[in-house]
Amino acid sequence: QCAAHCPVGAIYEKDEIATFLAAAADPQKQVVVQIAPSIRVGLSESFGLPAGTVTTKKIYAALRRLGAKAVHDTNFGADLTIMEEGTELVTRLTKGGALPQMTSCCPAWVDYVQKYYPDLLDHVSSAKSPMQMVGAIEKTFYAEKMGMDPAKMYTVAIMPCTAKKYESDRDEHMYASGFRDVDLVLTTREFARLIKSQGIDFLSLAEEEADSPLGEYSGAGTIFGATGGVMEAAVRTAYHIVTGNELQNVEVDVVRGLSEIKKGTVDFDGTPVRVAVVHGLSHVKEVMDEIRAAKAEGKQAPYEFIEVMACRGGCIAGGGQPYGATDSLRKERSAGLYTDDKNSAVRRSHENESIQKLYETYLEKPMSHKAHHLLHTTYQEIPVYKA
Ligand code: SF4
Repeated sequence: QCAAHCPVGAIYEKDEIATFLAAAADPQKQVVVQIAPSIRVGLSESFGLPAGTVTTKKIYAALRRLGAKAVHDTNFGADLTIMEEGTELVTRLTKGGALPQMTSCCPAWVDYVQKYYPDLLDHVSSAKSPMQMVGAIEKTFYAEKMGMDPAKMYTVAIMPCTAKKYESDRDEHMYASGFRDVDLVLTTREFARLIKSQGIDFLSLAEEEADSPLGEYSGAGTIFGATGGVMEAAVRTAYHIVTGNELQNVEVDVVRGLSEIKKGTVDFDGTPVRVAVVHGLSHVKEVMDEIRAAKAEGKQAPYEFIEVMACRGGCIAGGGQPYGATDSLRKERSAGLYTDDKNSAVRRSHENESIQKLYETYLEKPMSHKAHHLLHTTYQEIPVYKA
């Protein structure tokens, strides 16, 4: 948020609205857009609506007015991430591997581990973020299904996050489809300015649906945008993978809310799974040092799974969202996502029928060879200068 606070206005945030408009106007390109979980509650404030108002279907409509040939939802990718990351966790629990496993969908957090805890990189899930998964599936499965040329497909992601711009070009794994998986990332603020610049009356737009099958998602995918949401979604599915049963109460209260470090134990039918959720990078050190110290003694820190989000409150208060997030606003934005989850007919990622079909017809099964190629990555140490 330096741009907002620079006293002389010398710092401007990177604005790529013109890049989007040029792509949408280019007859050689087919623009395909996805929107992140937290955009559906973040955009509303830019149009004078109360914080936390869910505007998902107006956003889909606005994207078509802006020239999108297809409109997808990153929530679909969140469900896919849970299938991959949940399976990875169960594999580590049953067959061995570094524990606790740590989430990987926040690029600012991944960058932090690469720089300051490279000795713990094997704890970070190899699953790509939902955004990158959607991009890779758009340029392979979706392109094949729709008869589109992936070389002409121009994939755009509307994200709450400035770090996502960097993630989309981080390394060769972000080109797993044979092309750049995500061509352009726009923040919520850029998206609001884009809509306004084109004279679209956002509030009057009639609601529209996203394009199938990459527009279908569960409530678990929606709550990814709030701190604890990835953990809660993962628990709903990992419980099913481990026990073969369904978690009766899908709301995992112990990981919700704004406490800096949330810890708890989830009972997988007799097997205790210890979890922790951290948000705000300033609190991560405490947990990372605990893991490092335990490792030095040949022990496992007292967790099986840890979620980390760099921004306080998670993506609902990300660096690309409307300025001026307070804890009161964070609570209202999160409440919008939890209500969206509550209103969803499907609330577990593994029950998303479009995800099930994607595995049946294309990926085979979670962590298959093909899934690994398209949906997973590796991490390297990033050297940090020390005086
Ligand atoms: Fe980006 Fe913040 Fe979300 Fe991390 S928590 S993905 S930095 S918006």
